Amino acid sequence: MSRFQSERFSRLEAYVPGEQPRDRKYIKLNTNESPYPPSEAVLDAVRAAAGALNLYCDPTALRLRRAAAEVYGVGPDRILPVNGSDEILDFAFMAFCDRRTAVAYPETSYGFYSVLADLHGIEKREIPLKDGFSVDPRDYLGLHCTIVIANPNAPTGIALEPSGIEEILNANRDSVVIVDEAYVDFGARSVLPLTEKYDNLLVTRTFSKSHSLAGARLGFGIGDPALIADLTAVKDSTNPYNVNAMTQAAGIAAFEENGYYADNCRKVARTRDRTARALSALGFELTDSAANFLFVRHPKIPGGELYAKLRERGILVRHFSKPSIAEYNRITVGTPEQMETLLGALEDILSEHRAAGDAARYGR
Ligand code: PMP
Repeated sequence: MSRFQSERFSRLEAYVPGEQPRDRKYIKLNTNESPYPPSEAVLDAVRAAAGALNLYCDPTALRLRRAAAEVYGVGPDRILPVNGSDEILDFAFMAFCDRRTAVAYPETSYGFYSVLADLHGIEKREIPLKDGFSVDPRDYLGLHCTIVIANPNAPTGIALEPSGIEEILNANRDSVVIVDEAYVDFGARSVLPLTEKYDNLLVTRTFSKSHSLAGARLGFGIGDPALIADLTAVKDSTNPYNVNAMTQAAGIAAFEENGYYADNCRKVARTRDRTARALSALGFELTDSAANFLFVRHPKIPGGELYAKLRERGILVRHFSKPSIAEYNRITVGTPEQMETLLGALEDILSEHRAAGDAARYGR
Protein backbone atom coordinates (compact mmCIF):
# COMPACT_ATOMS: atom_id res chain seq x y z
CA MET A 1 0.00 0.00 0.00
CA SER A 2 1.41 3.41 -0.89
CA ARG A 3 1.14 6.39 1.43
CA PHE A 4 -0.97 8.08 -1.25
CA GLN A 5 -3.87 5.63 -1.18
CA SER A 6 -7.26 7.29 -0.81
CA GLU A 7 -9.23 6.46 2.30
CA ARG A 8 -11.93 4.95 0.12
CA PHE A 9 -9.64 2.14 -1.01
CA SER A 10 -7.63 1.61 2.12
CA ARG A 11 -9.68 -1.36 3.28
CA LEU A 12 -10.37 -2.87 -0.13
CA GLU A 13 -9.48 -6.53 -0.54
CA ALA A 14 -8.96 -6.94 -4.26
CA TYR A 15 -10.42 -9.87 -6.14
CA VAL A 16 -7.87 -12.65 -6.59
CA PRO A 17 -8.29 -14.23 -10.01
CA GLY A 18 -7.47 -17.90 -10.58
CA GLU A 19 -3.77 -18.56 -11.09
CA GLN A 20 -2.31 -18.22 -14.57
CA PRO A 21 1.13 -19.66 -13.81
CA ARG A 22 3.86 -19.73 -16.46
CA ASP A 23 6.43 -21.82 -14.54
CA ARG A 24 5.54 -25.07 -16.28
CA LYS A 25 2.87 -26.50 -18.55
CA TYR A 26 -0.19 -27.45 -16.55
CA ILE A 27 -3.42 -29.12 -17.51
CA LYS A 28 -5.38 -25.99 -16.77
CA LEU A 29 -8.70 -26.78 -15.17
CA ASN A 30 -8.88 -23.77 -12.86
CA THR A 31 -10.47 -20.82 -14.67
CA ASN A 32 -13.22 -22.38 -16.80
CA GLU A 33 -11.75 -21.54 -20.19
CA SER A 34 -12.72 -23.51 -23.26
CA PRO A 35 -10.29 -26.34 -24.04
CA TYR A 36 -10.97 -25.77 -27.75
CA PRO A 37 -9.22 -23.09 -29.82
CA PRO A 38 -10.96 -20.20 -31.57
CA SER A 39 -12.03 -20.99 -35.15
CA GLU A 40 -9.79 -20.10 -38.12
CA ALA A 41 -12.16 -17.33 -39.21
CA VAL A 42 -11.71 -15.64 -35.82
CA LEU A 43 -7.93 -15.75 -36.17
CA ASP A 44 -8.17 -14.31 -39.72
CA ALA A 45 -10.46 -11.53 -38.51
CA VAL A 46 -8.04 -10.64 -35.71
CA ARG A 47 -5.11 -10.53 -38.13
CA ALA A 48 -7.06 -8.26 -40.49
CA ALA A 49 -8.09 -5.92 -37.64
CA ALA A 50 -4.50 -5.76 -36.39
CA GLY A 51 -3.53 -4.06 -39.66
CA ALA A 52 -5.54 -0.97 -38.66
CA LEU A 53 -4.44 -0.67 -35.04
CA ASN A 54 -3.21 2.90 -35.63
CA LEU A 55 -6.87 3.94 -35.65
CA TYR A 56 -9.34 3.94 -32.76
CA CYS A 57 -11.96 1.23 -32.83
CA ASP A 58 -15.70 1.91 -33.20
CA PRO A 59 -16.81 3.10 -29.73
CA THR A 60 -20.37 2.01 -30.49
CA ALA A 61 -19.25 -1.47 -31.67
CA LEU A 62 -22.15 -1.32 -34.11
CA ARG A 63 -21.20 -4.29 -36.32
CA LEU A 64 -20.59 -6.42 -33.26
CA ARG A 65 -23.92 -5.39 -31.74
CA ARG A 66 -25.68 -6.27 -35.00
CA ALA A 67 -23.99 -9.69 -35.10
CA ALA A 68 -24.94 -10.26 -31.45
CA ALA A 69 -28.52 -9.14 -32.12
CA GLU A 70 -28.91 -11.82 -34.82
CA VAL A 71 -27.79 -14.61 -32.51
CA TYR A 72 -29.51 -13.38 -29.34
CA GLY A 73 -32.75 -12.55 -31.16
CA VAL A 74 -33.05 -9.01 -29.75
CA GLY A 75 -32.51 -5.51 -31.21
CA PRO A 76 -28.97 -4.00 -31.29
CA ASP A 77 -30.21 -1.22 -28.98
CA ARG A 78 -30.61 -3.89 -26.27
CA ILE A 79 -26.94 -4.91 -26.30
CA LEU A 80 -23.79 -3.39 -24.83
CA PRO A 81 -20.49 -5.16 -25.65
CA VAL A 82 -17.90 -4.96 -22.89
CA ASN A 83 -14.30 -5.81 -22.09
CA GLY A 84 -15.13 -9.15 -20.46
CA SER A 85 -18.36 -9.60 -18.53
CA ASP A 86 -16.64 -8.41 -15.36
CA GLU A 87 -16.86 -4.98 -16.93
CA ILE A 88 -20.64 -5.05 -17.38
CA LEU A 89 -20.96 -6.03 -13.72
CA ASP A 90 -18.81 -3.04 -12.79
CA PHE A 91 -20.90 -0.71 -14.98
CA ALA A 92 -24.14 -2.11 -13.56
CA PHE A 93 -22.99 -1.67 -9.96
CA MET A 94 -22.12 1.95 -10.81
CA ALA A 95 -25.37 2.58 -12.67
CA PHE A 96 -27.86 0.79 -10.41
CA CYS A 97 -26.43 0.76 -6.87
CA ASP A 98 -25.37 3.48 -4.51
CA ARG A 99 -25.39 4.35 -0.83
CA ARG A 100 -29.17 3.98 -0.73
CA THR A 101 -29.51 1.01 -3.08
CA ALA A 102 -27.78 -2.10 -1.75
CA VAL A 103 -26.92 -5.21 -3.73
CA ALA A 104 -28.12 -8.72 -2.89
CA TYR A 105 -26.67 -11.98 -4.16
CA PRO A 106 -26.29 -15.57 -2.96
CA GLU A 107 -23.75 -15.90 -0.17
CA THR A 108 -21.84 -18.50 -2.15
CA SER A 109 -21.46 -17.17 -5.66
CA TYR A 110 -19.00 -15.39 -7.92
CA GLY A 111 -16.52 -13.64 -5.59
CA PHE A 112 -16.34 -10.56 -7.76
CA TYR A 113 -19.79 -9.33 -6.65
CA SER A 114 -18.60 -8.73 -3.12
CA VAL A 115 -15.39 -7.02 -4.26
CA LEU A 116 -17.29 -4.72 -6.62
CA ALA A 117 -19.71 -3.77 -3.86
CA ASP A 118 -16.78 -2.87 -1.59
CA LEU A 119 -15.07 -0.99 -4.40
CA HIS A 120 -18.13 1.19 -4.94
CA GLY A 121 -19.06 1.50 -1.26
CA ILE A 122 -22.32 -0.40 -1.71
CA GLU A 123 -24.05 -2.23 1.14
CA LYS A 124 -24.03 -6.02 0.60
CA ARG A 125 -26.83 -8.41 1.38
CA GLU A 126 -25.46 -11.91 1.10
CA ILE A 127 -28.30 -14.40 1.09
CA PRO A 128 -27.53 -17.87 2.47
CA LEU A 129 -28.00 -20.87 0.21
CA LYS A 130 -30.28 -23.74 1.08
CA ASP A 131 -29.00 -27.24 1.83
CA GLY A 132 -27.11 -28.72 -1.07
CA PHE A 133 -26.03 -25.20 -2.16
CA SER A 134 -29.28 -24.39 -3.94
CA VAL A 135 -30.65 -20.87 -4.45
CA ASP A 136 -34.29 -20.48 -3.40
CA PRO A 137 -36.04 -17.75 -5.43
CA ARG A 138 -38.37 -17.14 -2.47
CA ASP A 139 -35.41 -15.63 -0.60
CA TYR A 140 -35.24 -12.85 -3.21
CA LEU A 141 -38.77 -11.46 -3.19
CA GLY A 142 -39.37 -7.74 -2.54
CA LEU A 143 -35.80 -6.95 -1.53
CA HIS A 144 -35.81 -3.28 -2.66
CA CYS A 145 -32.23 -3.46 -3.86
CA THR A 146 -30.28 -4.52 -6.92
CA ILE A 147 -30.09 -8.31 -7.19
CA VAL A 148 -27.43 -10.43 -8.88
CA ILE A 149 -27.96 -14.10 -9.58
CA ALA A 150 -25.39 -16.18 -11.45
CA ASN A 151 -27.30 -18.79 -13.40
CA PRO A 152 -25.89 -21.42 -13.36
CA ASN A 153 -24.37 -20.37 -10.08
CA ALA A 154 -20.61 -20.41 -9.57
CA PRO A 155 -18.81 -22.31 -8.20
CA THR A 156 -21.62 -24.82 -7.67
CA GLY A 157 -22.87 -25.09 -11.27
CA ILE A 158 -26.45 -25.44 -10.05
CA ALA A 159 -29.02 -23.78 -12.36
CA LEU A 160 -32.38 -22.20 -11.65
CA GLU A 161 -35.30 -22.61 -14.04
CA PRO A 162 -36.45 -19.42 -15.84
CA SER A 163 -39.72 -19.64 -13.87
CA GLY A 164 -37.76 -19.12 -10.63
CA ILE A 165 -36.05 -16.06 -12.06
CA GLU A 166 -39.36 -14.73 -13.36
CA GLU A 167 -40.72 -14.99 -9.84
CA ILE A 168 -37.81 -12.80 -8.65
CA LEU A 169 -38.35 -10.31 -11.50
CA ASN A 170 -42.05 -9.99 -10.75
CA ALA A 171 -41.49 -9.47 -7.04
CA ASN A 172 -38.86 -6.76 -7.62
CA ARG A 173 -40.36 -4.59 -10.34
CA ASP A 174 -38.66 -1.49 -8.92
CA SER A 175 -35.20 -3.01 -8.77
CA VAL A 176 -32.72 -4.17 -11.38
CA VAL A 177 -32.18 -7.92 -11.44
CA ILE A 178 -28.89 -8.95 -13.04
CA VAL A 179 -28.75 -12.52 -14.26
CA ASP A 180 -25.14 -13.49 -14.89
CA GLU A 181 -25.30 -16.14 -17.61
CA ALA A 182 -21.54 -16.67 -17.93
CA TYR A 183 -22.12 -20.45 -17.97
CA VAL A 184 -25.55 -20.76 -19.55
CA ASP A 185 -24.34 -22.19 -22.87
CA PHE A 186 -23.48 -25.55 -21.33
CA GLY A 187 -27.03 -26.69 -20.72
CA ALA A 188 -29.05 -24.32 -18.50
CA ARG A 189 -32.04 -22.38 -19.81
CA SER A 190 -31.45 -18.70 -20.56
CA VAL A 191 -33.75 -15.86 -19.53
CA LEU A 192 -32.75 -13.76 -22.56
CA PRO A 193 -36.32 -13.91 -23.97
CA LEU A 194 -37.55 -12.31 -20.73
CA THR A 195 -35.59 -9.10 -21.49
CA GLU A 196 -38.46 -8.11 -23.83
CA LYS A 197 -40.99 -8.58 -21.05
CA TYR A 198 -39.18 -7.15 -18.00
CA ASP A 199 -37.57 -3.71 -18.14
CA ASN A 200 -35.75 -4.50 -14.88
CA LEU A 201 -33.82 -7.50 -16.24
CA LEU A 202 -30.16 -7.26 -17.25
CA VAL A 203 -28.64 -10.46 -18.64
CA THR A 204 -24.86 -10.69 -18.81
CA ARG A 205 -22.97 -13.02 -21.11
CA THR A 206 -19.32 -13.76 -21.79
CA PHE A 207 -17.32 -15.22 -24.67
CA SER A 208 -14.64 -16.35 -22.20
CA LYS A 209 -16.07 -19.82 -21.62
CA SER A 210 -18.33 -20.90 -24.47
CA HIS A 211 -16.65 -19.02 -27.34
CA SER A 212 -12.94 -19.69 -26.71
CA LEU A 213 -12.11 -15.99 -26.28
CA ALA A 214 -11.10 -15.60 -22.62
CA GLY A 215 -7.88 -13.85 -23.64
CA ALA A 216 -9.68 -11.45 -25.96
CA ARG A 217 -11.97 -10.18 -23.15
CA LEU A 218 -15.47 -9.96 -24.57
CA GLY A 219 -18.78 -9.89 -22.75
CA PHE A 220 -22.25 -8.42 -23.22
CA GLY A 221 -25.02 -6.79 -21.28
CA ILE A 222 -28.47 -7.41 -22.72
CA GLY A 223 -31.65 -5.74 -21.53
CA ASP A 224 -34.24 -3.03 -21.98
CA PRO A 225 -32.98 -0.14 -24.17
CA ALA A 226 -33.27 2.27 -21.21
CA LEU A 227 -31.05 0.04 -19.03
CA ILE A 228 -28.57 -0.28 -21.89
CA ALA A 229 -28.57 3.50 -22.37
CA ASP A 230 -27.67 3.96 -18.68
CA LEU A 231 -24.89 1.41 -18.94
CA THR A 232 -23.61 2.97 -22.17
CA ALA A 233 -23.41 6.33 -20.41
CA VAL A 234 -21.26 4.73 -17.71
CA LYS A 235 -19.14 3.08 -20.39
CA ASP A 236 -18.68 6.38 -22.25
CA SER A 237 -17.71 8.07 -18.99
CA THR A 238 -15.21 5.37 -18.05
CA ASN A 239 -13.66 3.95 -21.21
CA PRO A 240 -15.48 4.84 -24.46
CA TYR A 241 -13.35 2.46 -26.56
CA ASN A 242 -13.78 -0.39 -24.11
CA VAL A 243 -13.80 -3.26 -26.63
CA ASN A 244 -10.67 -3.09 -28.76
CA ALA A 245 -10.64 -3.46 -32.55
CA MET A 246 -9.24 -7.01 -32.58
CA THR A 247 -11.77 -8.21 -30.04
CA GLN A 248 -14.67 -6.60 -31.91
CA ALA A 249 -13.50 -8.39 -35.08
CA ALA A 250 -13.06 -11.68 -33.20
CA GLY A 251 -16.56 -11.38 -31.73
CA ILE A 252 -18.21 -10.71 -35.09
CA ALA A 253 -16.46 -13.73 -36.65
CA ALA A 254 -17.36 -15.92 -33.66
CA PHE A 255 -21.05 -14.97 -33.91
CA GLU A 256 -20.95 -15.84 -37.61
CA GLU A 257 -19.72 -19.31 -36.69
CA ASN A 258 -21.93 -19.81 -33.70
CA GLY A 259 -22.54 -23.44 -34.73
CA TYR A 260 -18.88 -24.35 -34.14
CA TYR A 261 -19.08 -22.94 -30.62
CA ALA A 262 -22.45 -24.52 -29.88
CA ASP A 263 -20.94 -27.90 -30.90
CA ASN A 264 -17.99 -27.30 -28.57
CA CYS A 265 -20.38 -26.53 -25.71
CA ARG A 266 -22.26 -29.77 -26.37
CA LYS A 267 -18.96 -31.67 -26.38
CA VAL A 268 -18.00 -30.07 -23.06
CA ALA A 269 -21.42 -30.94 -21.58
CA ARG A 270 -21.04 -34.59 -22.65
CA THR A 271 -17.52 -34.73 -21.21
CA ARG A 272 -18.83 -33.13 -17.99
CA ASP A 273 -21.52 -35.76 -17.55
CA ARG A 274 -19.15 -38.66 -18.26
CA THR A 275 -16.55 -37.23 -15.89
CA ALA A 276 -19.19 -36.71 -13.19
CA ARG A 277 -20.13 -40.40 -13.37
CA ALA A 278 -16.49 -41.46 -13.18
CA LEU A 279 -15.89 -39.17 -10.19
CA SER A 280 -18.92 -40.56 -8.36
CA ALA A 281 -17.56 -44.05 -8.94
CA LEU A 282 -14.35 -42.92 -7.19
CA GLY A 283 -16.38 -41.82 -4.16
CA PHE A 284 -16.57 -38.08 -4.91
CA GLU A 285 -19.67 -36.08 -4.02
CA LEU A 286 -20.76 -33.60 -6.68
CA THR A 287 -23.34 -30.89 -7.15
CA ASP A 288 -25.58 -31.18 -10.21
CA SER A 289 -23.61 -28.88 -12.51
CA ALA A 290 -25.08 -27.41 -15.69
CA ALA A 291 -21.86 -25.44 -16.28
CA ASN A 292 -18.45 -26.24 -17.78
CA PHE A 293 -17.05 -27.20 -14.40
CA LEU A 294 -17.69 -29.70 -11.64
CA PHE A 295 -17.80 -28.86 -7.95
CA VAL A 296 -16.55 -31.85 -6.01
CA ARG A 297 -15.45 -33.10 -2.62
CA HIS A 298 -14.13 -36.42 -1.43
CA PRO A 299 -15.08 -37.54 2.07
CA LYS A 300 -11.57 -38.91 2.66
CA ILE A 301 -9.36 -36.01 1.48
CA PRO A 302 -9.52 -32.36 2.54
CA GLY A 303 -10.13 -29.96 -0.37
CA GLY A 304 -6.86 -28.06 0.07
CA GLU A 305 -4.84 -31.27 0.12
CA LEU A 306 -6.46 -32.57 -3.04
CA TYR A 307 -5.78 -29.26 -4.78
CA ALA A 308 -2.09 -29.40 -3.77
CA LYS A 309 -1.66 -33.06 -4.81
CA LEU A 310 -3.15 -32.37 -8.22
CA ARG A 311 -0.92 -29.32 -8.63
CA GLU A 312 2.17 -31.44 -7.88
CA ARG A 313 1.05 -33.66 -10.75
CA GLY A 314 0.71 -30.72 -13.15
CA ILE A 315 -3.08 -30.38 -12.91
CA LEU A 316 -4.49 -27.05 -11.79
CA VAL A 317 -7.97 -26.86 -10.30
CA ARG A 318 -9.60 -24.10 -8.23
CA HIS A 319 -9.79 -24.28 -4.48
CA PHE A 320 -11.55 -21.58 -2.45
CA SER A 321 -10.52 -21.01 1.15
CA LYS A 322 -13.98 -19.76 2.21
CA PRO A 323 -14.85 -22.14 5.10
CA SER A 324 -18.27 -23.22 3.81
CA ILE A 325 -16.76 -24.57 0.57
CA ALA A 326 -13.17 -25.32 1.62
CA GLU A 327 -13.78 -29.06 1.35
CA TYR A 328 -14.54 -28.65 -2.35
CA ASN A 329 -12.62 -28.08 -5.54
CA ARG A 330 -13.97 -26.63 -8.75
CA ILE A 331 -12.71 -28.52 -11.76
CA THR A 332 -13.09 -27.07 -15.25
CA VAL A 333 -14.23 -29.59 -17.85
CA GLY A 334 -11.48 -29.97 -20.44
CA THR A 335 -11.07 -32.31 -23.39
CA PRO A 336 -11.87 -36.02 -22.89
CA GLU A 337 -8.09 -36.70 -22.86
CA GLN A 338 -7.48 -34.11 -20.14
CA MET A 339 -10.27 -35.66 -18.07
CA GLU A 340 -8.70 -39.11 -18.45
CA THR A 341 -5.43 -37.72 -17.11
CA LEU A 342 -7.30 -36.06 -14.24
CA LEU A 343 -9.12 -39.28 -13.33
CA GLY A 344 -5.86 -41.25 -13.44
CA ALA A 345 -4.22 -38.71 -11.11
CA LEU A 346 -7.18 -38.83 -8.72
CA GLU A 347 -7.04 -42.63 -8.58
CA ASP A 348 -3.32 -42.41 -7.71
CA ILE A 349 -3.92 -39.79 -5.05
CA LEU A 350 -6.74 -41.81 -3.48
CA SER A 351 -4.71 -45.00 -3.35
CA GLU A 352 -1.68 -43.17 -1.90
CA HIS A 353 -3.98 -41.65 0.70
CA ARG A 354 -5.42 -45.08 1.56
CA ALA A 355 -1.92 -46.57 1.85
CA ALA A 356 -0.80 -43.72 4.12
CA GLY A 357 -3.91 -44.23 6.28
CA ASP A 358 -3.27 -47.98 6.54
CA ALA A 359 0.38 -47.41 7.40
CA ALA A 360 -0.60 -45.00 10.18
CA ARG A 361 -3.25 -47.39 11.50
CA TYR A 362 -1.16 -50.54 11.49
CA GLY A 363 2.14 -48.84 12.32
CA ARG A 364 3.77 -49.98 9.08
N1 PMP B 1 -19.44 -14.26 -14.08
C1 PMP B 1 -19.09 -15.42 -13.54
C2 PMP B 1 -20.09 -16.19 -12.75
C3 PMP B 1 -17.79 -15.91 -13.71
O1 PMP B 1 -17.41 -17.05 -13.15
C4 PMP B 1 -16.86 -15.15 -14.48
C5 PMP B 1 -15.46 -15.68 -14.70
N2 PMP B 1 -14.53 -15.37 -13.77
C6 PMP B 1 -17.29 -13.93 -14.99
C7 PMP B 1 -18.59 -13.52 -14.79
C8 PMP B 1 -16.37 -13.01 -15.74
O2 PMP B 1 -15.89 -13.51 -16.92
P1 PMP B 1 -15.22 -12.57 -18.00
O3 PMP B 1 -14.88 -11.25 -17.37
O4 PMP B 1 -14.03 -13.33 -18.46
O5 PMP B 1 -16.25 -12.41 -19.07
